[in-house]
Amino acid sequence: MVSRVIPVDPFDLVVFGATGDLARRKILPGLYRRFVAGQIPETSRIIGSARTEMDAAGFRAFVAEAIEEFLDVKKRDADSVARFLDHLHYVAVDAKGDGGWPELAALIRRDVVQAYYFSVGPSLFGDLAERLHRHGIATPNSRIVVEKPFGRDLASAKTLNATLAEHFDESQIYRIDHYLGKETVQNLMAVRFANILFEPLWNARHVDHVQITVAETVGVGGRGAYYDKSGAMRDMVQNHLMQLLCLIAMEPPYRFDPDAVRDEKLKVIHALLPVEPDDIVRGQYRGGGKKGAAPSYAEDVGDPATRTESYIALKAHIANWRWKGTPFYLRTGKKLRGRASEIAIVFKEVPHSIFGDEEGWRENVLAIRLQPNEGMNLSVMIKEPGPGGMRLTEVPLDMSFAEALGEDGADIPDAYERLIMDVIRGNQTLFMRGDEVEAAWAWTDPIIAAWEARGDRPKGYDPGSSGPEDALMLLHRDGRRWREIRE
Ligand code: NAP
Repeated sequence: MVSRVIPVDPFDLVVFGATGDLARRKILPGLYRRFVAGQIPETSRIIGSARTEMDAAGFRAFVAEAIEEFLDVKKRDADSVARFLDHLHYVAVDAKGDGGWPELAALIRRDVVQAYYFSVGPSLFGDLAERLHRHGIATPNSRIVVEKPFGRDLASAKTLNATLAEHFDESQIYRIDHYLGKETVQNLMAVRFANILFEPLWNARHVDHVQITVAETVGVGGRGAYYDKSGAMRDMVQNHLMQLLCLIAMEPPYRFDPDAVRDEKLKVIHALLPVEPDDIVRGQYRGGGKKGAAPSYAEDVGDPATRTESYIALKAHIANWRWKGTPFYLRTGKKLRGRASEIAIVFKEVPHSIFGDEEGWRENVLAIRLQPNEGMNLSVMIKEPGPGGMRLTEVPLDMSFAEALGEDGADIPDAYERLIMDVIRGNQTLFMRGDEVEAAWAWTDPIIAAWEARGDRPKGYDPGSSGPEDALMLLHRDGRRWREIRE
C-alpha cells in the first residue's frame, strides 16, 4: 500500500533557532524529506534565522551538512538536496534586539501561508511573538509553532499562554508535542473510532489496566543542567505520557476536528484523580553499567545532592463512568534496558474458562508500539496445533506499519515532518491547546509539590535495568506485572 502525498499550499516558513540542535537534527532534514516526497510546492521558502551571522549560501551549506549527518544515505540524493537548498534563505535576528527584523519583514510574502517555528529556548518565545508584531511581520493568518517545554508549572504555563495571547489568537498557536505526530498515535484514534471491534470493550468492564511505557537507554548526557531542573515528571509525564493517556481514555469526539478532539482530551485530564504518594516511585540511575565506568545521574548533572528523578512510575485513576476501576500505570526513565515506547491495553480474563485451569493461559493484550518499529500487536489465545488435546497457546496478531503500509517496507514520516505539514495546512488536531497544557500542569503540580514537601529521595536503579525495585512492587501489590522492556 503506497501512501498518498497531498501537497500543501505554498508557504514561507521561518525557523527561528535554525542553527540549533533540534533544527539540525529534526526540522531541516524533515523538511527535506517532505520536499522529496513532493509535498512542498516549488514556490515555498524556508527561512532560517538565529543570531549567528551568515548568508544564504552559508545556511545552505549548513543544511546540506545536517541532511548528510542525520539522514540515512538511502533517504537522500545529491540532486534533490541541491533542489531543496534553492528554497532556503537566511536572516540573522536577535530575539532580544531589533537588528535583522526589517530584513525579515521585507522577505516575507503576504500572499502565502506564513509560519514561524520557535525552535529556541522558551525564555525567547515572548520576545519573538512581540517582535513579529512590532515589525509588522505577523498577520491574522500567520501561525507560530512553539516547542516544549511549555512552562515548568501551572503559573509559568499561564504566563506563557498570556504572553502569546497578547499577539496571537489561540487558532494561530501550535504547541508541539512530537509524540502526537507519531503514526501509531494517530492510528490509535483510527483503531478506536474507525472500527467497531474495540470500542465496545474499551472500558473498565473489559480492560483490566493500561500500561504506558516510554523507556530510553541514554542518560541525560549533555542536557544535565537543563534536565536536573525538570526531571522525568515535568520532561515526559506532564506532556507526552499524559497526551497518550488522553488519547486512550477519551470519549469519541463528535467529529475528527481539532477542537472536538481536544475538548475530549481535556475532559480526561479534568477527570484524573490526584495521585497517592504510595502510587508513585521515583528513581535515579546509578553509575556503572555493562561497560563499567558510566557516570551516575548525580555525576551526570554535577550535583551529588540532587533529588531530581531520571525515572518515574505512577498509578493514575480516571474518575468517570468509562474508566472507574481501571488503573493507568505510567512509567518513563533514562538508562533503562531498552529503548521502547509502548501503550498496552491489558484486557480482563474471560468470565469462565471452559478449558479449566490452563497453564498457558494469558489475557488478551493490545500493544501499540511507538518505537522501535511502529505498529500494533494483539495477543490472542488459540489452540496449540497438533494432536495433543485442547491445549491453549498465545499468538500475536502483529502489524508493523512499515511492512503493512510502506512501499517495500519503506519509511514512515518522522513525527516532525507530519506536524510541520499540519501547521501549513492549518490543522491543530495534533497540537496541544492552551487550556489542555494548563490542566495537565494543574494535575502535575500538587504531585510534585507533595514529594518536595516530604523531601523524598529517588530510589537508585542500575543502568540497563527496568528501573527501581519499588516500581515492580507498584504493580506486584495489585497482582499485576509490568510488560518487559526489551533490549
Ligand atoms: P539549541 O541547540 O540551544 O539552539 C538554540 C537556537 O536558538 C540556536 O539556533 C541559537 O542560535 C538560537 N538563539 C539563541 N538565542 C537567541 C536569540 N537571542 N535570538 C535569536 N536566536 C537565538 O536548542 P535546541 O536543542 O535546538 O532546542 C530548541 C527548542 O526546542 C528548545 O525550546 C528546546 O527545549 C526544544 N526541544 C529541543 C529538543 C532537542 O532534541 N534538541 C527536543 C524537544 C524540544 P544563535 O546562538 O546563533 O543565536
